[in-house]
Amino acid sequence: MSINFSDEVNDEIITTAVSLPEDHAEGSLRPRTLAEYIGQEKAKDNLSVFINAAKMRGESLDHVLLHGPPGLGKTTLAAVIANEMGVSMRITSGPAIEKPGDLVAMLTNLNEGDILFVDEIHRLNRAYEEILYPAMEDYAIDIILGKGPSANSLHLDLPRFTLIGATTRSGQLTAPLRDRFGVTLRLELYTSEELQRIVQRSAGILNVRIVPEGAYEIASRSRGTPRIANRLLRRVRDYAQVRADGVITRDVADRALSSLEVDKLGLDSLDRRMLRSIIEFYGGGPVGLDTLAATINEEAVTLEDVYEPYLLQCGFLTRTPRGRCVTQKAYAHLGIAYMGQQQLEL
Ligand code: ADP
Repeated sequence: MSINFSDEVNDEIITTAVSLPEDHAEGSLRPRTLAEYIGQEKAKDNLSVFINAAKMRGESLDHVLLHGPPGLGKTTLAAVIANEMGVSMRITSGPAIEKPGDLVAMLTNLNEGDILFVDEIHRLNRAYEEILYPAMEDYAIDIILGKGPSANSLHLDLPRFTLIGATTRSGQLTAPLRDRFGVTLRLELYTSEELQRIVQRSAGILNVRIVPEGAYEIASRSRGTPRIANRLLRRVRDYAQVRADGVITRDVADRALSSLEVDKLGLDSLDRRMLRSIIEFYGGGPVGLDTLAATINEEAVTLEDVYEPYLLQCGFLTRTPRGRCVTQKAYAHLGIAYMGQQQLEL
């Protein structure tokens, strides 16, 4: 058997927070209860109060909006809420709802107390949002049948359900939709210690032998994101089986990740390209996001949602009213001499 650990692997892909086909086994790694769900203490604290209060009153939970970068556990948390409430969850996403009928069918098929999870809710067609307003507020929808003078309106009552919306960009939600969520929770990037616990838990489920230092090495190179931590764990497991004795030690994890070109902080080639471009073409910044995106031929939303959160957390990038700036710390990480920030004339 020949496994290539470096050449054929696109290092731009392996550390992306966006779900990849190789993550299909994620389901088995998902925590099912709030106690098993690691980190996000603030969100969990709030949720456990709301869940217990709703259960004590015998009511459905208020609508919940979860926001934060991809791969942080929004879908997982929605499933945990359903499990804790003892109800079923139906899953859809903003772009999957192609016509109003799709949404009406989902809503009318719900049972009392059920959860409707709408991923990427900011991508829901604005015209269909209006179906959600009375559904969320009054648990009813009005459907117009026919056209012109002969049109009839049909009023349908819905069961008391909970809408859980997930979004990477809450700023793109319209105000009327945002206002209808009783609970808004922001998920934060995880610390290396929290990710270490996630890696150890996943290793247990996958029957992988790992020492705590090995788990920490993977954790600290996972960009604060559980999805990446689990993906890197699977890659390092393969490496440990083929190139070592199957046990993931710190050294094995380091060798495996270095051969995958995941650097000590988990930065990949796009992060580096982004930082270098700001340095080389814009004197370290400030540079507007759209200009930067055009320079490195990437979409501005990808940079903002997927790349920036981690670079901001590392303290490599700052956001100013005039654009993005690279910090002195980033120069040091990239091994580039810092000459002071050049202020570009506007
Ligand atoms: P999102 O919906 O935010 O993109 P997911 O809920 O799909 O992210 O999470 C990605 C993966 O990360 C899941 O399969 C799950 O195994 C893992 N994960 C996420 N959050 C946690 C957590 N708090 N504890 C343990 N594992 C987690």
